[in-house]
Amino acid sequence: MKKTVESYFKTIADFPTEGILFRDVTSVLGDADGFKLAIDEMLGAIDGEAIDVIIGIEARGFMFAPVLAYTLGKPFVPVRKAGKLPRETVSATYALEYGEASIEMHADAISPGDRVLIVDDLIATGGTAKAAANMVEELGGKVASFLFLAELTYLDGREVLGDYKVHSIVEF
Ligand code: AMP
Repeated sequence: MKKTVESYFKTIADFPTEGILFRDVTSVLGDADGFKLAIDEMLGAIDGEAIDVIIGIEARGFMFAPVLAYTLGKPFVPVRKAGKLPRETVSATYALEYGEASIEMHADAISPGDRVLIVDDLIATGGTAKAAANMVEELGGKVASFLFLAELTYLDGREVLGDYKVHSIVEF
């Protein structure tokens, strides 16, 4: 029987803190068949969409977005934690369980009117993804859609993303 993408995930209880069920994507990437299946299904999910730029969110979005960008012949743009990018940036701040965090992207990475795909390994609360969308729009870009390999449906991150188009391959 053909294996599913879900079957390649390893689940670790109480990591990084008690009560969290951590869905480890490294076990998907660490299996050549799992990695290929994940990329193929991600490409299938966005098949036919008009996309100009592909954004990956640090750190695990970097494991997928560049592969998709290379395959589709589109530019890859990194969204990084604050203070890492060398040129002029825009930034967005979002809430964490305790406190807040900021992410940044280069101000010249998006041109007005660009249709942007935002990629991460997993959507939990949706806070990071929403912050990335805010930066895209601040630069005049348009969010074509979001693409996640996995979605924690019980956290309702999709609600935070409102009317945006959201793709996920595996639901936990
Ligand atoms: P959020 O902003 O809450 O949607 O968090 C998204 C980021 O947190 C993703 O980049 C995930 O890599 C990571 N993350 C949050 N919860 C989990 C979890 N239970 N298992 C694996 N990664 C997680």
